[in-house]
Amino acid sequence: MIKTRFAPSPTGYLHIGGIRTALFNYAFAKKNHGQFYLRIEDTDTERSTQAAIDKIYQGMHWLGLNHDGEIIYQSKKKDRHQAVIKDLLKNGFAYECYCSKQELEQMRQDYEQKGLKPKYDGRWRPEIGKTLPTQPSNVQPVIRFKNPVSGLVEWDDLVKGRISVNNEELDDLILQRSDGTPTYNLSVVVDDMDMGITHVIRGDDHINNTPRQINIYKACGFAVPEFAHLSMILGEDGQKLSKRHGAASVTDYIDLGYLPESIINYLARLGWSHGDAELFSLEDMCQWFSFDKVTSSASQFDLKKLNWINNHYIKSKNYDDIKAILAPGFVANNFEESKLKLVFELYKDRCQTLREFEQHADTVLGESRQVQEDLKNKYINQDTLQHLKSLLMEFNDSDFSIEAIESILKNYVKNADLKFPQIAMPLRIVLLGIDQSPSVGHIISIIGKELFNKRMDRFL
Ligand code: GLU
Repeated sequence: MIKTRFAPSPTGYLHIGGIRTALFNYAFAKKNHGQFYLRIEDTDTERSTQAAIDKIYQGMHWLGLNHDGEIIYQSKKKDRHQAVIKDLLKNGFAYECYCSKQELEQMRQDYEQKGLKPKYDGRWRPEIGKTLPTQPSNVQPVIRFKNPVSGLVEWDDLVKGRISVNNEELDDLILQRSDGTPTYNLSVVVDDMDMGITHVIRGDDHINNTPRQINIYKACGFAVPEFAHLSMILGEDGQKLSKRHGAASVTDYIDLGYLPESIINYLARLGWSHGDAELFSLEDMCQWFSFDKVTSSASQFDLKKLNWINNHYIKSKNYDDIKAILAPGFVANNFEESKLKLVFELYKDRCQTLREFEQHADTVLGESRQVQEDLKNKYINQDTLQHLKSLLMEFNDSDFSIEAIESILKNYVKNADLKFPQIAMPLRIVLLGIDQSPSVGHIISIIGKELFNKRMDRFL
């Protein structure tokens, strides 16, 4: 059975690249009727926080990326990691290294002076016939992996194709620090093996770790999984996506008024495609997903496209679908629900986010509006004031139904020999304070007699 995992380190926010990795792991597992696990890599106790873990849960839950089985916390597996390290020591695949910080620094400088890439020189690496330095009594050793010195490490990456690395380029990496804590490369291998992970799908920032990890798998006698390294997501300026490109955390998109299906749909298309399909659900993606359609080049974040997708999903909703996810501050306005429903229907085509809907609803139903002087000067004069006054009377004799309002407007324009905007624009200015809105007849009907008169009175 195919088993994948998302293995975030809870040391910061869950960013867009991270959640896209989760999505691809999820889709691949579901496509193959497999399992998708969540492992929290919280071994860096100084930088890992509960707040970051909570954001990971929140983001995944929001997007419907539900994991199978129990959540694995890497920090709880320290004993197991140390036991594997002990076995590696026993079997000659690892060794103790007593180099001090100063020695390592000196080593680095020596390599650099020779114009070589700095690496560990293997001075504590046991070899047949080699005499090791004398153990200092005051240094706690680290445990290093005895990486093969020759030959190639190779794998067929499901995204990047065949990758081949010469062992000469790989260091004897540290498996266990001097304080006894196992390192990332060791822990990941042991956990993936213990969890039965068949496919390791992660960001290509880990591609340098993979040959080291493959060597550890082999030394441990574990089966090597398949690997798929997903390309980076760049910002619109071509730089690595980061906080300065706007929303940093996935959960920020909740606050910005995006729908989860929009984020899923958008992220799916960041690096994967299915023919010309642009709009599809998580279920569709899970049915269609395959690695041969995952691009090996970097993807670029495109806010316009995300907004287009979000608009698509907002349009497909009705007010009851979205009312529970409106901002608390907006809900506190206590606008009449029947009116909110009408405003949503009238405006949803032009909303890229739910926050935009709230702004529109506030413009239509809220209290305070300032009419800008330039708009007043542009659209209001003695004639228009006269028209507004006449219309006010006619509207007040009606029931404010949309049919009545539209018929009054139509007849008035005709009888006064005006063009519709000559009356619609001043009405917009008076009622909304701005010169852009959907059908002004609908707006008058929605706000109703009381509010209509209030705004007219104030203006006139
Ligand atoms: N914890 C690592 C990270 O957040 C991922 C490790 C992996 O996927 O192998 O970058």
